Amino acid sequence: MARLVIVSNRVSMPRERLSRAGGLAVALREALAGQKDGGLWFGWSGETVAEPQPAPRRASLGKIDFAVLDLSPAEHKGFYTDFANSTLWPLFHYRLGLIDFHRAAWESYLSVNERFAEQLAALLRHDDVVWVHDYHFIPLAAALRRRGVKNRIGFFLHIPFPAHEVLAALPAHRQLVADLCAYDLVGFQTWNDVRALTEYVLHEVGGRVERPDGGIGAVRIAAFDRELRVAGFPISIDTEGFARTAAHEAEAEDTVRLRDSLGNRSLVIGVDRLDYSKGISKRFEAFQILLGARPEHRGHVTFMQIAPISRGEVSQYRQLRNELDGLAGRINGRYAEFDWMPVRYLNRSFTRNQLAGFYRVARVGLVTPLRDGMNLVAKEYVAAQDGADPGVLVLSRFAGAAAEMSGAVIVNPYDTEGLAEGLDRALTMPLEERRQRWQANMAVLRGNTITHWREGFLAALAA
Ligand code: UDP
Repeated sequence: MARLVIVSNRVSMPRERLSRAGGLAVALREALAGQKDGGLWFGWSGETVAEPQPAPRRASLGKIDFAVLDLSPAEHKGFYTDFANSTLWPLFHYRLGLIDFHRAAWESYLSVNERFAEQLAALLRHDDVVWVHDYHFIPLAAALRRRGVKNRIGFFLHIPFPAHEVLAALPAHRQLVADLCAYDLVGFQTWNDVRALTEYVLHEVGGRVERPDGGIGAVRIAAFDRELRVAGFPISIDTEGFARTAAHEAEAEDTVRLRDSLGNRSLVIGVDRLDYSKGISKRFEAFQILLGARPEHRGHVTFMQIAPISRGEVSQYRQLRNELDGLAGRINGRYAEFDWMPVRYLNRSFTRNQLAGFYRVARVGLVTPLRDGMNLVAKEYVAAQDGADPGVLVLSRFAGAAAEMSGAVIVNPYDTEGLAEGLDRALTMPLEERRQRWQANMAVLRGNTITHWREGFLAALAA
């Protein structure tokens, strides 16, 4: 078994507590630790310094080596804030109106990828297998190939891949896709994303696309003088581990306090980074419509939205924050009683253990992104339920998770009245139907855990 090299934007260094780092970091670290010949984790340190050292900082933990580079303030702005977060993020989430494209940011994105490739190439052994993660590093393989690297290189995109005509709004779209084609295997969250890339290759590039017989297995693409495979690998969670945590957290102090504070009221929970892709405003509007149209819910339902501040340096995120402050205030001002607040809106984060307990208390998990690669909160919500009396997942059709969660109440987040109806349906659903829907979702989550995802991708990359 060759050495595995993982590249990601943020590297969780050995001293960082993994309980804070999230499921992906744990899964990737396990993948590295599980390799007979050990592994290397390479990427951005998360730090910005006036004069970054050319060579990476190194650390190790058992068989895992870590190598991280810092960014300069100009790189942090151009590569990270302006290109990754203000161009690629809105573009890939279908929000053309929010894109802020500048050639200087694109140049910075490319030059950071060149600099990282230069340093990584020096660390690579000839038989290493390289697995690159996410939209920050799309050009990395092409930059490595220019340095003579012939290793097998795979790429996994954690966010959606946009439809052809949406992607074409990026002035540099062709180069970006050409660079993507320098990988040997490209993995997406869903087959919808696979279709988006193949359509682009067929119609924009005039490349060749070979679909596998029967629709399973990887699609083969020939374009830009390269051949690669593309497939869907829906990311998941540690299903049984999360379920155990939630059962344990059911009696934890914070969970008990939450339950006591609700009295007999049903809890609807939303948990999202404060991001415009998550559809939080539409969700607030739908809740307001529900209270207006169905007075029987007034005083009997509490909606708790947990939304830790994210990317505060980007102006669109500050605007969203103002909008949500206004919406939450207006709903509470209009409908609150002296003994009931309809909306609890919290701009802070909680640990995943705390969330596990909160999900278990909630009768409805409200997950309504306008576009989302997967959405792990949807999966965590399902795994956290008590199978004897489970809550209902209300899920946007535009979350990657909707392709798998057939037991969810599927909604269109742009249709706020339909969303309110979905919420009403979930709040009044009989126990038997709740159980059936939960079992359907749980069967999928047991059959596709984070371990299946990781092993599936690495097996395909090795094949
Ligand atoms: N999360 C957390 N604390 C919070 C809010 C979120 O630990 O206060 C976690 C959540 O449990 C989930 C992840 O952050 O594992 C969010 O992943 P998701 O795919 O839903 O959205 P993303 O933020 O990656 O777009």
